[in-house]
Amino acid sequence: MKRMSSLAYHFGIKLRFYPSSKQKKIIKLNYDAQRFVYNSYAGRNRTNYHARRFLAINQGQAMPFAFPILNDYEAKLAETVVANDELLAKPKNIRDAYSFLRVKEIDSLALANAIQNYRKAWNHYRKIGHGIPTFHKKRSDWSYQTNCQYPKQKEAYLDNGTAKFIDAKHIKLPKLGVIRIAGLRKLIKERLLKHVSTRIGTVTIKKTAGDQFYLSMQLGSDIAFAQKLPKTQSQIGIDLNLDNFLTDSNGAMVAKPRFYRNAKKKLAHAQRVLSRRQREDFLQVLSTALIKNHDLVVAEELRSKNLLKNHALSQAISDVGWRRFLNMLAYKAKLYDKEFQTIDPKYTTQRCHNCGTIMGQNGCRKLKLKDREWTCPMCQTYHIRDWNAAVNILEKGLGSWQNPKKQTA
Ligand SMILES: [Zn+2]
Repeated sequence: MKRMSSLAYHFGIKLRFYPSSKQKKIIKLNYDAQRFVYNSYAGRNRTNYHARRFLAINQGQAMPFAFPILNDYEAKLAETVVANDELLAKPKNIRDAYSFLRVKEIDSLALANAIQNYRKAWNHYRKIGHGIPTFHKKRSDWSYQTNCQYPKQKEAYLDNGTAKFIDAKHIKLPKLGVIRIAGLRKLIKERLLKHVSTRIGTVTIKKTAGDQFYLSMQLGSDIAFAQKLPKTQSQIGIDLNLDNFLTDSNGAMVAKPRFYRNAKKKLAHAQRVLSRRQREDFLQVLSTALIKNHDLVVAEELRSKNLLKNHALSQAISDVGWRRFLNMLAYKAKLYDKEFQTIDPKYTTQRCHNCGTIMGQNGCRKLKLKDREWTCPMCQTYHIRDWNAAVNILEKGLGSWQNPKKQTA
């Protein structure tokens, strides 16, 4: 059977699920166990790292004893290093050392994943040179990873591994048993019904701080998850701004739907659900249309959360759902064999796309938020601000942005 990485197509799904109280306990147990193993590795390795440095020993665990003149403290350090190394040598050893890790509800794959995650963090540290793996603190959101295995099967399907779909509403997971899921995508439902060869890879089980449970699954297959969309030979840039939802590089504008405003007011539960669903539909339809009609879509990167000190702006971004929208564009582009790109938004608003002049430089007046329309002082081109920005975004994505074009006298 092919490994996950050698399959041609990959697809990730996220499902809400509803565990019983017994299943919740098992999830908590596995989260705690995974964290315990990770922290054991982090703690013991860190101790060894410092001890080795202290002893200035670079090779072999037997080496400390080759130093005849270790004092008591050094001898103790050397012993610790040997003991820790032994415990961490094999994943099995740590399970043998702590009886509570051998409880039958604990998924051995969750423990193996903890070690793998730790090693990844350590390798990252070695490559980058800072950020030694730190302890995972106890949190109110839990998660752990397990894997779907196919020990004897000749071919992998959605319903024959150790993690498997029972039907469109139920999944069976290692240790947890059958869980009830919500909202399986049509695309996956069809694969399940038509018995399309599909491998399940890593499965992440998650509880949010708000007590909702989610399951993420990696899927792999040699049969594409969706039919490729025909090429259109069209490219487009989109500018996301606070006045409307987006403006594209052809000058088309999509207004901000009104139900977002309502979502802030106190509404009856049913109304909030409806407004959320409307927003989801709006984002789905718009992102599909963009990917379908263009081979390349370019947008600006949204600044990361911690950079957004402007509370009003970060609130607006989450209200409008831009981040979700860009995620949709990214996965749909991948799914339908199109391209989606994000670029650094620097100067996209201030630059005249016609001559390359950047407003706010070389004595040109910087555009303010209220300047919806403006005329370039160099080439006299009249611009609608957001439209001009969208053209710049596309040009930046295409790499055809040269600054500024030479002025001919
Ligand atoms: Zn100009």
